[in-house]
Formats: sequence, C-alpha cells, structure tokens
Amino acid sequence: MKKLELHWQIMIGMVLGLLFGFGMTYLDWGKEFVTNWVAPFGTIFIKLLKLIAVPLILASLIKGISDLKDISKFRNIGLRTIGIYVGTTTVAIILGLVLVNLIEPGVGISEETIEKLTSTFANDKGVTAKLEEASRQQDSGPLKFVEDMVPDNAVAALANNQLMLQVIFFTIFMGISMLLIGEDKARPLKNFFDSLNDVVLKMVDLIMLSAPFAVFALLANVVVSSSDPEILLALLKYAGVVVFGLFLMIVFYCILVWVFAKKNPFWFLKQLSPAQLLAFSTSSSAATLPVTMERVEEHIGVDKEVSSFVLPVGATVNMDGTSLYQGIAAVFIAQALSFELPLMAQLTIVFTALLASIGTAAVPGAGMVMLVIVLESVGFPPDKYAIGLALIFAVDRPLDMLRTVVNVTGDATVATIVAKSVGKLHDDPKADNWDDHYDEVK
Ligand code: ASP
Repeated sequence: MKKLELHWQIMIGMVLGLLFGFGMTYLDWGKEFVTNWVAPFGTIFIKLLKLIAVPLILASLIKGISDLKDISKFRNIGLRTIGIYVGTTTVAIILGLVLVNLIEPGVGISEETIEKLTSTFANDKGVTAKLEEASRQQDSGPLKFVEDMVPDNAVAALANNQLMLQVIFFTIFMGISMLLIGEDKARPLKNFFDSLNDVVLKMVDLIMLSAPFAVFALLANVVVSSSDPEILLALLKYAGVVVFGLFLMIVFYCILVWVFAKKNPFWFLKQLSPAQLLAFSTSSSAATLPVTMERVEEHIGVDKEVSSFVLPVGATVNMDGTSLYQGIAAVFIAQALSFELPLMAQLTIVFTALLASIGTAAVPGAGMVMLVIVLESVGFPPDKYAIGLALIFAVDRPLDMLRTVVNVTGDATVATIVAKSVGKLHDDPKADNWDDHYDEVK
C-alpha cells in the first residue's frame, strides 16, 4: 500500500487533535488530563526541533559558504535577501493598514465588550508578562539590534536558542575565514561540517516521523487552553481582517514564486506544506526552521548556498505575517478606544512595525510584545497599553498560529526567488528518506 504523504498524515493528526481537544472540554477532568498527559508530547517534539536548530544552522551555513567558489557571490545573495525581505515586509504592513482602514473592525465595538475584555484580560498574567517584556525592550537604543548581533562569546551564543543572529554572525565569519585560508587547509573542517550537516538533516527526518502525533498533542492543548467562545465571537471582525490579510499575503507569495522563480505556486505550496502545518501547530518559526530548511532544500530544490543563509536569517528578521498583524492590531485598538491615528501616525507604523518585526523573537506570542512598541511610536497613552492588549489577547493564539504560517512561507518564497536569481534553484531535487541506509545497519 502506498504510504500516505506526510502532509496528509500531519493534517489528520491536527484534525483528530482538534476534535479530541473539543471533546475533552466537555469533561470535568478533560483539561487537566490534556495538560498533564497529552501536552507534554507536543512540548517534547518542539524541544527536539529546537535541539537541532543551532547545529543545523552552524553546519549548513558553513557548508553553504565553503562551497562558494568566490566570496562576492555571498555578498550578492546577502544584499538581495535583505532587500527582498524589507520589500515583502513593507508590502505586508501596508496591506494590513489598508485593510484595517477600509473595513474598520474596531469602529462600533460596544462599551460593554470593551469593558468585558478589559476586566477579563487587562490583569491577566499573559498580558502583564507581555508588557513587562516590552518595557525591557523599549529601553534600548536604535542600533541596539545591530550591537546585539555580534557575540562576545561564541560558546554562549551557541548555547542560547534566542541568540540565533549571533550564531549566524559567528558562522558567517568562520565560513568566510575558511575560504580565505585556502581549500587544502580548510578541508578537514569542511569535511567535518559536511558530515555534521548530513547527520542533522537525518535527525530532522527522524523527528518528523513523530510529527502527526505531536501535532495531535499540540492542537488538543491549544483547544483546551483557549478562551470562552463568546469572547472570540466579539473579536470575529478583527480576526477576520487579520486572516484575510494573511491569506492575501499567501496569494502574493504565489505570484512572486510564479513570476520570479517560474514555478507552479501550487506545487510550491505542496512541497512546503509540512513546514507550514508545523508552523501552524507550534506557532514558532524558530522551532519550524529545521523542517523549513529540509523542505526548501530537498523538495523545492534551493541550493544550500542560498537556503543556509536566507532561511535562518529569515526566521529571525523576516516576519511578514507578524508585521501585517501589528499594523492591523495597532489601528484596531486605536479605533476601538477612539484614539485618533492620522496618516502620519500610520506611516510611522510602517516604519516601526518593520523594525519591530526584525526584533521579534521567532517564538509564540512574541508579535504581541512588539506591538507595544508600535503603539508607543504613535503616542498611544502608556496607561492604556494593558487595555489595548486585553482587547486582542483572546484571539492572539489562533492568529499567532496563522501569522507564523505566513512568516515561514515568506522565508521560503524569498529563498526560492533568490536562488532562482543566482542560478541556484535545481529542477530535480532529491529528497532523503530516514531509512535510506537502514538495511545496512539494522
Ligand atoms: N510566533 C511568531 C513566529 O514565531 C511570532 C509572532 O508573530 O508572535 O513566527
């Protein structure tokens, strides 16, 4: 019998997880059961993916750079990538602002709903934690993120998943230095990293064997931890605008892939789908990164020289879904609380949301922290931050899941078009299976 394709397996796991989660909400002990006995399997899966992220970036970026025949190519890839990232993010923010101004989801929200949301969430642990995190980030200067990119201790950088950009900096520095000592001298190190890279990609294959079960656990847990459906209903119009905007971004990527990479967008989405489904289930582009890299290289055909740089950088700095959401959320909050936002203020949002999305960590809910910085930039009164966040908190998780899908799809799109533009998009990629050499060792 032909084995069911991975994305179908994952999708079945997701649907069963949702149904199971809903079922459990009807039982008195259901929520506790899911939290204690089901959710840990989802958490273990995310931990496994994060476990291999640093070795994967290190090995694949060094392999990517040391395969280059001349360094100027790398500068070329780097500049294009950053340019396109800034371009797509700007499109996302402007799209979000246009939609929220046209549809005005915040106008006409009743005092009663605002009151209810405020009393439920303004003092909620989740909201206060986000505000605290935001005030820590607000204290930094404009060049802080560049400063933060440079590590002062390589081992400390490698030991912290939050310091992905530092790892990338160190690795590029090392890769370029390897090129400069000449092929002979660099060979032992290059062979080591080549082999490490193969091993880590095999680890991705093995971890993915458990993906259908893990997404079951993750989604069941999302369902039992979500808010009261009545509150969700009050925010339906706002959530609808975000979802519509995110959908348009996917259409935008399809057009880019079609026009610039000359690939069928449906084929592209199908190849990428396991990574998108994981992005949805984990709400974290960082946790999804190993799978995104595997799909983009082995299934879409992007050469490692491109993907090893474009994808890890993208996971941290390119968040189109998040920035679209920040634009919509900021204006929605202003509309609901009758805070004037003239055109100039909205243009400020474009700029700050762009910087904020660069500074947003690729983990669940981080977009909401940076939203505070966007609100601050337009002069929103600080004593109302908590009320503002309370208004959108109830639907943040499902929207986070969706915006993470867009974040990951955006990275993969840019990797594909950059690869095409430098002649590094291969037509017949070869995908490895976890058991390719199993017979030799079993
Ligand atoms: N969860 C998102 C990501 O990891 C970030 C966010 O929008 O909160 O891509």
